[in-house]
Amino acid sequence: MQNREIYLDNSATTRICSAALAAYVEASEAHWGNPSSRHSRGKDAEDLISGVRADLRAALGDTGNGTVVFTAGGTEANNLAVFGRALSKPRFARGGKILTTAGEHSSIAQPLAALRDKGFRVVEIPTRGGALDMEVLRAEMTPDVILVTMMLVNNETGALYDLAAVSRVMRAQSRDAVLHTDATQAFLKVPFTVKSLGADMVTVSSHKIEGPKGVGALWVSPELIRTRGLVAHALGGGQEGGLRSGTENVPGIAAFGAAVRRGRADFQAESAHLRELREYLTEQVRNTPALSEVILNLPPVAAPHIVSMTMPDIKSETMLHFLSGRGIYVSSGSACSSHDTHLSGAMLAFGLSDRAADCTIRVSFGNRNTREDVDLFLAALSDGVGSLIRVKGR
Ligand code: PMP
Repeated sequence: MQNREIYLDNSATTRICSAALAAYVEASEAHWGNPSSRHSRGKDAEDLISGVRADLRAALGDTGNGTVVFTAGGTEANNLAVFGRALSKPRFARGGKILTTAGEHSSIAQPLAALRDKGFRVVEIPTRGGALDMEVLRAEMTPDVILVTMMLVNNETGALYDLAAVSRVMRAQSRDAVLHTDATQAFLKVPFTVKSLGADMVTVSSHKIEGPKGVGALWVSPELIRTRGLVAHALGGGQEGGLRSGTENVPGIAAFGAAVRRGRADFQAESAHLRELREYLTEQVRNTPALSEVILNLPPVAAPHIVSMTMPDIKSETMLHFLSGRGIYVSSGSACSSHDTHLSGAMLAFGLSDRAADCTIRVSFGNRNTREDVDLFLAALSDGVGSLIRVKGR
């Protein structure tokens, strides 16, 4: 048995990289001013975060003049995008329609549920088999749509959705609509730019890319700012162009910037490495007799770092604890939703039965993983499949 940890839960969070950690310490010690202060110490902190705004714009391929609103993570950026858009015009509240995907992260699904209670109409476009149903999308893209919010990569299945196609349908059929994408799992994993997606708002989160936790951003198009199509969700001192009050997390933002620069520099090599691990894992699962019952839930187009698999009759919680006992960390559903006992909406939308969804684990790779990690994981998984108690009945 190996005596080191094998961390295969990089979609839940990643370990901070040394560049980000160094930037955090440096900013805390040397740039500790309040960016809103008018003296030079404030200006120094303001300059630091302005630099990170530029880094983020570059990483998102924004060659224009988009706005980067720093937030306390992906969840807050998603809340700002959804509530901020829906509440931006009083007329939207009179039955405005919002399109989304079936199986969004809870930080989109819950705000949408709250808006539904306020009278907004929310329509989920099916994602069976990990593909967006473009026919339903075209039929639902009516002139009363005010917001389309769709994740770029699903955090549980790894499905990569064709948002450029979504945006084309939206521009042709819904004049009032804007496109928001939760790119938390896609950022620096798959190539995209705000332009290639045709997006008006993009959510990113620092801790998924080896930055610190509790930092994220919402990118907003110049057009949306100009037309006042987004209103603040957190009110107060008016920081972040009035869109997110609260003193900025300067060291966190500095560290996020370092993680973004590292991620950009390593992008090609890292995504090739992740893809190779994913291919190796799926191939080995298919070729290992002890794993013949394991079903791979593979979307037609996928991000390089996520693999979902179902072990019929073995609950994911049981497998997760077995693997954890051997120092191997995977997840059942997404870490953010595993506090409750609900089955994963994303897996049900993919087409799994309740039973299968309850027996599904997610492996998500990071930069530091190796083929040997995959081998050790597969050996442990085979042992688990051979020895764990099965749930009875169908
Ligand atoms: N969206 C997706 C797709 C995610 O995977 C996550 C993190 N699990 C979030 C949003 C939330 O991001 P944060 O943890 O930064 O709030």
